[in-house]
Amino acid sequence: MEPIPFDKRAGKIWFNGEPVNWSDVKIHVLNHGLHYASCVFEGERVYDGEIFKLEEHTERLFHSANRLGFKIPYSQDHINKSCKDIVKIQKVKNGYVRPVVWRGSEMMAISAQKTKIHVAIATWEWGSYFDPKLKGIKLNISKWRRPAPNTIPWDTKASGLYMICTLSKHEAEKQGFTDSLMLDHEDNVAEATGANIFFKDRNGELHTPIPDSFLDGITRRTVIQIAKSKNIKVHERKIKPDELKNFVGCFLTGTAAEVTPVSCIGENKFKVCELII
Ligand code: PMP
Repeated sequence: MEPIPFDKRAGKIWFNGEPVNWSDVKIHVLNHGLHYASCVFEGERVYDGEIFKLEEHTERLFHSANRLGFKIPYSQDHINKSCKDIVKIQKVKNGYVRPVVWRGSEMMAISAQKTKIHVAIATWEWGSYFDPKLKGIKLNISKWRRPAPNTIPWDTKASGLYMICTLSKHEAEKQGFTDSLMLDHEDNVAEATGANIFFKDRNGELHTPIPDSFLDGITRRTVIQIAKSKNIKVHERKIKPDELKNFVGCFLTGTAAEVTPVSCIGENKFKVCELII
């Protein structure tokens, strides 16, 4: 059965301060966010009715908005409470929360100083991002690089950053892979299209790229914390693609991806273990 399109679902979406009927949450086609990517968002997981690391996600939402020059017209506490409220209203037990902030339709040009800042929070039941039947996912290496840090506000979840992610992911899927490994502007290993990456060496130690031109994921930070608490060494360092052959394991981390084992990157094969760390 085809999944129900996201604009045809039932219930409520929190929209500019209150829960509104799902089908009534509409924006005009002449909208700055749509035309000029003046839009930031978050992705959060609900486990057993509770949002995982909600406060950190809201902090990052405000950081992203601030980097794009938006002033969110609510406090962080208000957004936290609204996220919890909409999860309750929608009765989501295990799912996803998507807060999104964008510039409205008051101006339709590069300059958008007088646009209103809109905020919506949607939530839905959601399972695994990657097919759980797969014994480790397969990555290709994207022809698109993560942009250099002086070319875009790279440490945000700004929608514009995802254009090359969708291009990379589509190309990977066309070639029979599940996702794509993106390199940075200096040809170091960076991340997948919506998740950070870790490698395991022969000694059981972990290696992960320094997030200096891409998102320092909340899941990434959590995994590092857990690893350190188990006395597993984590090396945050520059990793070159020709080192991939030396690693025995690999996994992705992210709110959507959770912790997903990788079985190969191009020609490089990894052992898929039951326990990642
Ligand atoms: N990189 C990108 C490009 C992402 O979209 C995500 C998902 N938000 C991540 C990394 C992982 O971040 P987090 O663990 O905070 O979800």
